[in-house]
Amino acid sequence: MATDCIFCKIVSGDIPADIVYEGDHVIGFRDINAQAPTHVQIIPREHVAKISDFDPSRDTAWLVELFQAAQKIASDEGLDKGFRLVFNNGALSGQSVLHVHMHILGGRQLSWPPG
Ligand code: AMP
Repeated sequence: MATDCIFCKIVSGDIPADIVYEGDHVIGFRDINAQAPTHVQIIPREHVAKISDFDPSRDTAWLVELFQAAQKIASDEGLDKGFRLVFNNGALSGQSVLHVHMHILGGRQLSWPPG
């Protein structure tokens, strides 16, 4: 756990969140500033700052569960017509929270390209 990390504090329960998925390695919770009818953050319980820090000798369990969680959340939320998964990585992408998180967005027509 990184003591100054807001998402670590959600994992530990020190900050409340609307949690929609809890697994061994991953949790999912609704975004506080939702950009679509479904907008959930899926994160590893372990603190890893960004996806470019991913280490395949260490991080495979949460990586696999991240996508299992996305499948389940998409199913639970009725996103059968489509959804989008997004990782922002680093300053130029607009990553604002330095704890790996995969956005799942759905429930409306999503445009492309993103801003
Ligand atoms: P990013 O810009 O990719 O780093 O995305 C960070 C996301 O985390 C944004 O969509 C924020 O709205 C969301 N966020 C930040 N703090 C919280 C929080 N306490 N609970 C839920 N979502 C949050």
